[in-house]
Amino acid sequence: MVENKQISVKKKAYVVNDAIAEKIRNTMKTKNKRFFNVMGSIGAGKTLILERIAKRLSPYYKVFVINGDVATTIDADRIAKSGATTVQINTGGGCHLSASLIQKEFDKINIDDYDIFITENVGNLICPAAWDVGAEKNIVVVSITEGEYVIKKHPIIFKGAQIAVINKCDIEGEDFDSKTLVEDASKIKSDMKVICTSAKTKQGIDDLITALGIDIPKRE
Ligand code: MG
Ligand code: ZN
Repeated sequence: MVENKQISVKKKAYVVNDAIAEKIRNTMKTKNKRFFNVMGSIGAGKTLILERIAKRLSPYYKVFVINGDVATTIDADRIAKSGATTVQINTGGGCHLSASLIQKEFDKINIDDYDIFITENVGNLICPAAWDVGAEKNIVVVSITEGEYVIKKHPIIFKGAQIAVINKCDIEGEDFDSKTLVEDASKIKSDMKVICTSAKTKQGIDDLITALGIDIPKRE
């Protein structure tokens, strides 16, 4: 009995969350704003990728980044230096962002002041998959140092994503290889966009921005 009750409470939480997420998605669409959700393990390179994206887009767009972190403001502080407006959500131990947490941040700002909104979700490949935040696209970042089975072992988060980013491709070689990860990501969904990047060297960052559907002038 107790177990059943727990399950139904959890189900209800998902229903409430999904309704808020849908509302966020509709608001963004109506206002012609872009909203992306970046997920991935701790250490995959989400923050550096967002720093690169923010820096690249800031001359042309007003970018607002929401950082989910269990306890610190380290990532938001880093991204703030790239020209984006950033806000930190401390989840107080929570391992994912939810639509209501995002809505609370949107309530504090004027959506019309920005063009592009991006979340850096809390670093893990499990529960952010179950919590729709209302983004138009979900992006999952993995790095080639996470092992060749990292995608095979986490199919659910990739099923809910439109873009898979294979990061740290600059250290590709004998020990680390992107080939299996690219294949696995493509196998999960036939229309998955798979992009190899190196946030460190900026390789693939423009391709990722293009995959998001954002227009930017080509690099010189
Ligand atoms: Mg980070
Ligand atoms: Zn969680």
